[in-house]
Amino acid sequence: MTPKPLLVRLWRRTIIDESTECWLWQGFCDKGHGYIRWNRWKAIGVHVASATIFMGHEPMENPKVQINHRPECPNKHCWNPKHLYIGNSYMNMLDKTIAQRQNYPIKQEWKEIEGIAKRRS
Ligand SMILES: [Zn+2]
Repeated sequence: MTPKPLLVRLWRRTIIDESTECWLWQGFCDKGHGYIRWNRWKAIGVHVASATIFMGHEPMENPKVQINHRPECPNKHCWNPKHLYIGNSYMNMLDKTIAQRQNYPIKQEWKEIEGIAKRRS
C-alpha cells in the first residue's frame, strides 16, 4: 500500500480542533488511540500512520521505534505530525518521569510546611 491512499483514508475520517490544532481521528479507537487498517491483516495507530507519511517512518522495519505524542498534545487519537515525535518506549517513560518530578518539589514543600505547623501546635 502506498502512502497516498493512506493519507486520503485518514483525512476522510478526521476533524480539526482549531483551538489545539489537533487532527482528530473519527474512526476506530481503542484506549484513546485511533487505528487505521494498514493491510489485510494489520491495523496501525493513526499517529504511526502519520509518521510513515510525514517522517518516513517504516513501522514494519523498525518495530522498536515508537511514535510518541508531544506532552502539549492532549489527544491520543490526534495525528498532526507537528504533535508527534519519533522516539522509543524509553523516551516515553522518561517523559512521564519528568512530569512526575515536576510535581515532586511541591509535594515536598507541603510536607515541610505541614511538619512546621505540627511542631508549632
Ligand atoms: Zn494533537
